[in-house]
Amino acid sequence: MGEPLPSREEQALEVLDRLYEEYPDTTISLNFSNRLELLIAVMLSAQCTDERVNKVTSDLFETYRTPEEYANAPQEEMADAISSITYYNNKAKYIRSATADIVEKHDGDVPDTMSELTDLAGVGRKTANVVLQHGHDVVEGIVVDTHVQRISRRLGLTEEEYPERIEEDLMPVVPEEDWQQYTHLLISHGRAVCTARNPTCSECVLEDICPSSKLDHDVDLASGDAW
Ligand code: SF4
Repeated sequence: MGEPLPSREEQALEVLDRLYEEYPDTTISLNFSNRLELLIAVMLSAQCTDERVNKVTSDLFETYRTPEEYANAPQEEMADAISSITYYNNKAKYIRSATADIVEKHDGDVPDTMSELTDLAGVGRKTANVVLQHGHDVVEGIVVDTHVQRISRRLGLTEEEYPERIEEDLMPVVPEEDWQQYTHLLISHGRAVCTARNPTCSECVLEDICPSSKLDHDVDLASGDAW
């Protein structure tokens, strides 16, 4: 059928209901045991799979344990330690600079506000949102990664294209108590069924309410292109 509910609010509630049922235990898939490790893992995860990040951090977190140790590591050494990660040179620079700021300006603690976090080198709103949610239990917004971006558009929950605009557009539509899980549910669905290139619409629990369903529609609303 592929018919969305009449309002975006109703559509969001129905999507949440069905995905909660489908992925009851979904949560962040990055491994970490404290806020500093969380911050580093999220910084490394930009444009990189969580699986690869987890492989790298299992050694990295053994080698470096404090913000001082990250900040004092020579650039080459840090780049080498994360060399299987995309953009490892830049990420090594950002990690060293962000941890130096944490030492100098925040007494060695990962800050707990959006503005202080986004002031750190290499930390944008998405990274800050993840750190606030999973490191400090503060939910200030919706984390919009590539899965959330793609599937929110496919489902007709937003027509915005860029992550920060999508977040602003979704916040009045998705109930606040679901902001954190909305992200994880869509990521789980994006990995399991609604993949970027070849979604399995015939096996999707959202098929009858999805205006991008390949079974009934010619266009992928995520890209605006024909399937
Ligand atoms: S898998 Fe298909 S039907 Fe399901 S949400 Fe994605 S595009 Fe829509």
